Amino acid sequence: MKDGVHVEQVTNVFITKTYPNHYTMVTGLYAEDHGIVANEMYDPVLNETFSMNHMTMYNPKFWEHAYPVWITNQIQGHRSGAAMWPGTDVKIHGAFPTHYLLYNESVSFQERVAKLIEWFTSEEPINLGLLYWEQPDEMGHILGPDDPGMELVIMEIDNLLSHLVRELKRAELWDTLNVIITSDHGMAQSSRDRIIELDQYVDRDLYMMIDHSPDVAILPAEGKLDEVYNALVKAHPHMTVYKKEDIPSRLHYRHSTRIQPILAVADEGWEILQNKSDHFNLGNHGYDNTLPDMHPIFLAHGPAFRKNISKQAMNSTDLYPLLCHLLGLEPLPSNGSLDNVKDLLVSAAPKEPQDRSRQESYARFFGVFLGSVLVIGFLVVFIKYLTRSQVSALRDQHGEIAQPLLQS
Ligand SMILES: [Zn+2]
Repeated sequence: MKDGVHVEQVTNVFITKTYPNHYTMVTGLYAEDHGIVANEMYDPVLNETFSMNHMTMYNPKFWEHAYPVWITNQIQGHRSGAAMWPGTDVKIHGAFPTHYLLYNESVSFQERVAKLIEWFTSEEPINLGLLYWEQPDEMGHILGPDDPGMELVIMEIDNLLSHLVRELKRAELWDTLNVIITSDHGMAQSSRDRIIELDQYVDRDLYMMIDHSPDVAILPAEGKLDEVYNALVKAHPHMTVYKKEDIPSRLHYRHSTRIQPILAVADEGWEILQNKSDHFNLGNHGYDNTLPDMHPIFLAHGPAFRKNISKQAMNSTDLYPLLCHLLGLEPLPSNGSLDNVKDLLVSAAPKEPQDRSRQESYARFFGVFLGSVLVIGFLVVFIKYLTRSQVSALRDQHGEIAQPLLQS
């Protein structure tokens, strides 16, 4: 933070789950626009389902409402590298990243960093690298963010970050690379005392549950929409139930065929299950994106960024125009704006003598490295800021779980 910029809260997009938010970070679009509206989806037009824990997530049709930044980067003449960032092992618009790894949770953080450094320093170097790390999301789901055990998880991440910095210095990349550390979402503490049971209010034969707590996407049986809606709408004071067309426009979560006819959203810290015997996590996310506990942090260091600058808030949709700026790309239309984050950049700093010299050194760097960017998709910081789940222990259960392991 002392040597770079710090944004205290990133307003992410609804629903505050992993896949929608990872795709927002690399497209600048709301979920309804980029099409990855949940971790579990059903598309009635395609008549196909998508689940982050099945091979169905490799179906390109789900991803092709948008162009992620690695594809745009390649179309505009550069090379991209990805280490486990969600979606980077899917063929989207006919292409993979120039270099990528098939998702495998057992590949260590150190190996992921080593791969990216190898690609950044090869004879035909990448200019964009993306890395995803599963913690502290995974343990946050299991323990809950308020558990004292999370302190150890955070300490371990701090150690991994110092490994990253050390390795970038060793590769002589630290002074020339722009490094961004952020996340897809935060996490809230759940409790067995805060469970809403749908079975108490509506017969489960009347609907299908497509996506799970705390945002339950409900597909009613043929002709049963009003019956299911009326049974649920006033069922519980900590559950808000919308017909699709009534979802508030501020959530930007309506205009997609993959959003189901009924959406039930729990208040922070509450869970919506069919029955108390269903799987239950002590930590969860997915709640309203105005809740501070759902917000990630944002840290950045590098020649393009000012030093010792703190800012209260930005939108996760602003990351995409920022990345395009750093990479020298012509951005596609998005819901974000570079203007919202320009104050983080050296180029926007007041024109004072000491700043001018810094600008000149950046310009020199820029000529050599064409704005190399390393995006680290995990998050440091306090227990409440947690990322997504790749919990192999939870593989057979609802909630977020690991993608299929394609490497043995
Ligand atoms: Zn998660």
